[in-house]
Parts: sequence; C-alpha cells; structure tokens
Amino acid sequence: MELVFDGHNDVLLRLWRNMKAGGDPVAEFMSGTPAGHIDAPRAKAGGLAGGLCAIYVPSGDLILKEPDENGHYETPLAAPLEHGPSLSTALEMAAISLRLDRANAWRLCRSTREIRKAMAEGIFAAVMHMEGCEAIDPDLAALEVFHAAGLRSLGPVWSRHNIFGHGVPFAYPMSPDTAPGLTELGFELVKACNRLGILIDLAHITERGFWDVAKTSDQPLIASHSNAHALTPVARNLTDRQLDAIRESGGLVGLNYAVTMLRADGRDDVGTPLSDMVRHVNYMVERMGIDHVSLGSDFDGASIPQDIQDAAGNQNLVAALKGAGYADVELMKLCRENWLRVLGKAWHE
Ligand code: ZN
Repeated sequence: MELVFDGHNDVLLRLWRNMKAGGDPVAEFMSGTPAGHIDAPRAKAGGLAGGLCAIYVPSGDLILKEPDENGHYETPLAAPLEHGPSLSTALEMAAISLRLDRANAWRLCRSTREIRKAMAEGIFAAVMHMEGCEAIDPDLAALEVFHAAGLRSLGPVWSRHNIFGHGVPFAYPMSPDTAPGLTELGFELVKACNRLGILIDLAHITERGFWDVAKTSDQPLIASHSNAHALTPVARNLTDRQLDAIRESGGLVGLNYAVTMLRADGRDDVGTPLSDMVRHVNYMVERMGIDHVSLGSDFDGASIPQDIQDAAGNQNLVAALKGAGYADVELMKLCRENWLRVLGKAWHE
C-alpha cells in the first residue's frame, strides 16, 4: 500500500455540521460512520495517512446551476461573508481540530517531521488549513492567533470575494480570468504568510490573483486541489501558463477528485472513470514533471468517482496510476513526497 498525504479535505466541515446537530466529532472520527468520505477507520483502510484539513466557512446560499442543453453552466459567485460570524465558525472548526488531537483521534502537525512521525505511528497526520480568510481581520490579529493554534496553510479566498482578494465561480466552460486579483490587504496577507511560514494555496483564486501571489510570495506556488484547464475548462482549473509558473517555482498541483473538474464535459456524474483522473495526472506530469504533481482529493467537499467512493477507496487511484506505468519511486512522489517537500519549504525548515 502506498501511503498518501493529501492536499485538501473538508472533513472538519462535515464534523462541524454534525456537531451543530448534536453529534460528537471525536467519536464520529474515531469510530467512523457510513456518511461522508473520511474518518479514522476508512483513512487507515485506504492508506490515507494525512492531509490538509480545511477550516471552511460555508456559503449557505450557494446552489450550483444545472447545465443547459450544451452542457454549459455558470453559478453566480456566493455573496461575501461577514467577519464576525465567520470568525465564530472558524474558531469552532479549529477547536474540533484541537480536540481530535487531544483525544489522539488524529495528530495536528506543524512540521514535516511531525507528519512523518504520525504517519509512521499510523495516526492520521492533520495540517490545519483555512480555505478563504473571511475569519481574518484587516490587522491580521486572527492570523497570529490561528497560527499559534496550528494553522500552517491558507487560501486567501474561496470561490467568493473578500477583503483579501477575488475567487473564481463554478462555471463551465470558463477561463479563470474572471475578476481582479489580490487587494492591498491581500498583498499584506501574503507577506505575513511568508514571514510566519504559512503555506499559501492558490486553489479558488482568480488568474490575476494567482499572478499577484506569484510576484509577491517567496514560496513555491501551490494549488492544493485543482486540475488541468486544457482537459476540463472550468474556471477552477489551471491554464498551461499557470502550470508552467508552478513548475518554475518548484511548487505543485494536487489532483482534485471532483468529477466536475475531471470530466471533459464538466458534468456532475459519479460514474466518471478512474482513467479521467489518470488523464489529468498524465497531462500535468508531461507539462510540469513528476516533482510537481500530487493529490488533493477534496474528500468531504465534492462528489467524487464511485470507483473511489471514499477514503477507503483511495488505493484504487494508486492502482490505476501504477497500471498507467508509474514506477514505485514516482508513485511515492505523487502520493506524499512532493507535498512534504513543498510544505518544508513554505515552513522554513
Ligand atoms: Zn475547495
């Protein structure tokens, strides 16, 4: 079994929602449930040894648009969120992450050494990530506090606009150049992340935002859960120019398992074959090289191929990649070593 360290999941969102409905996140993660994609037993079964776990404040009003007769769709951007309620939600999700750590349900990791140790011990290695920074104030006081609580990665925006920058909508077909990039505060946020050693994630940001980060940040460029725009032209996927810039910076792209971002027709169909996933990996490896492609499942945050189903099925993708001719040393890079390399860089190790 090839252990996987994965670039993006939304398990904290699922645990938070269930907690709001009276559930116990620690018990749910440790003993497992049939719902969603990730818990400790299923992660273990599928060799999902760890990953970046998102604090994500949901947009309750977002309803994805159905495709028209040509298969085209364009969901309007979710409305901006207010800081106060976003901070409350983000604190609750961070607290779940800390409680899971305290209960030994998972290990909250702040260095690649801690990640490797947790993986060796067989305990899920979680890294605290923030997907969209509505919980962060303009003075970045909350950034300092979340960093102290273990935050080691963030995306300035989700697919909506905030005080730091602009996000892309869910739309097919569409270029990622949909709106302006970083705001003045966004540039300050990027510089603060460089100083503190917090990874900056470019998933969900507009193309102009991508280039703004590229010219400002001293880190490798990362898109934690995105695919190739040349194969699936959704606004969330990356153009060839963006892939080239990621390669040149020494960064990586994590393959997103969301079927709408994998299929050539962009449709929401869980019958999407594993070969579509392999096709995106092949394309990105040919464009960028084996050192710049990794995995970013979006478990618990997207509809994914039924051939994987949940974390327990993660090795089905590894087997498909092996079947496509990837050697063991290449699989090791795709599955975990590339992620550990870029995290170490961003964290000043
Ligand atoms: Zn996302």
